[in-house]
Amino acid sequence: MPNPAWYSHEICFWHDPGPGSGYVPVGPGVEPLRQFAVDPDLRRAEGLVRASGVLDHFTEVTPEPATDEDLLLVHSADHIGRIEAASAQGAGDAGVYAHVNYHSAQAARLAVGACVQSALAVLDGRFDRAYCLVRPPGHHAEPDRAMALCLYNNVAVAARAAQRHGARRVMVLDWDVHHGNGIQKAFYEDPNVLYVSVHQEGLFPPASGLVTETGSGDGAGTTLNVPLPAGSGHDAYLAAMARLVQPAARAFGPELILVAAGVDAGGHDPMGRMMCTSRTFHAMTTMMCRTAEELTGGRIVFAHEGGYSAWYQPMLVLGTAAAVAGLPEPRDPFLHSLEHLPGQRIRPHQSRVIEHLESHHPLLTRGRQA
Ligand SMILES: [Zn+2]
Repeated sequence: MPNPAWYSHEICFWHDPGPGSGYVPVGPGVEPLRQFAVDPDLRRAEGLVRASGVLDHFTEVTPEPATDEDLLLVHSADHIGRIEAASAQGAGDAGVYAHVNYHSAQAARLAVGACVQSALAVLDGRFDRAYCLVRPPGHHAEPDRAMALCLYNNVAVAARAAQRHGARRVMVLDWDVHHGNGIQKAFYEDPNVLYVSVHQEGLFPPASGLVTETGSGDGAGTTLNVPLPAGSGHDAYLAAMARLVQPAARAFGPELILVAAGVDAGGHDPMGRMMCTSRTFHAMTTMMCRTAEELTGGRIVFAHEGGYSAWYQPMLVLGTAAAVAGLPEPRDPFLHSLEHLPGQRIRPHQSRVIEHLESHHPLLTRGRQA
């Protein structure tokens, strides 16, 4: 059995982007409402993982806040200053739709700290694998701009810290339903970081994460975007994993895999239009753990990103966590409501995206060209 670690911190649950509707703050036409992105739901996720006994299979670790030195691996000093200042005021937008409260600056440093420290612990062999239950999320945060609920780019900083620690080549897989524009931007010209995103086509940010965005300069070929059409479910996601993500990992040859493991591709999520279930996340997590065993000596870290269904997010985190611990998929009382919908089997228009990338992406066609 693996020896996994679980990184979480109470203060991450105290970050709150304030009242609004969805991601939109209170204003003209927007009544006050408990946000989808509030973090007591994350505490409920941890509660389910604990109550189910799955957390007993992890070593629980309390992270330290990331230092300025860590944050500066990806972000500018001005960016850090804007987040600290907005948070010190107790409210405000630290970027573009990146609202904060008094605790957000510390929560954001702890989220980065968890990802950095777990990556280094896995590289040093203290744990085989790790899961970071952190908020705020990170993958939209760009080097000089907080964006869409994301303050610092947790996984991007962890990738840079892993390189500083001696890992030469790092793969970042991102299966959050939105495109991780911030991670892509940080590594677009870097040949030593492979960024793979499986997301809903055209969702957010607009016109971001196209199949034609494959990296540039020295990093040409080390960005792979898989924009699945809205309505994709279990089979489409597993086909993308088996036919694109795993072959890309083998072609690249990473020494560490980081997964931006948002669960907002879940079938009940209000921020996406996908159909995934706890079984999908368990299967994808298991596949990536096997890929890590094959390529990186098992070194893999999963970090939470988006996830906005108050009732289903905990079960999706449990499905992911169970697989990280090498345990069978959990009993999911919500499964029947999603699995019997017709969109769970792969459809031709979903297959075509995968076929196109199989035959056109530079990393996947390398060596196949005459
Ligand atoms: Zn998301």
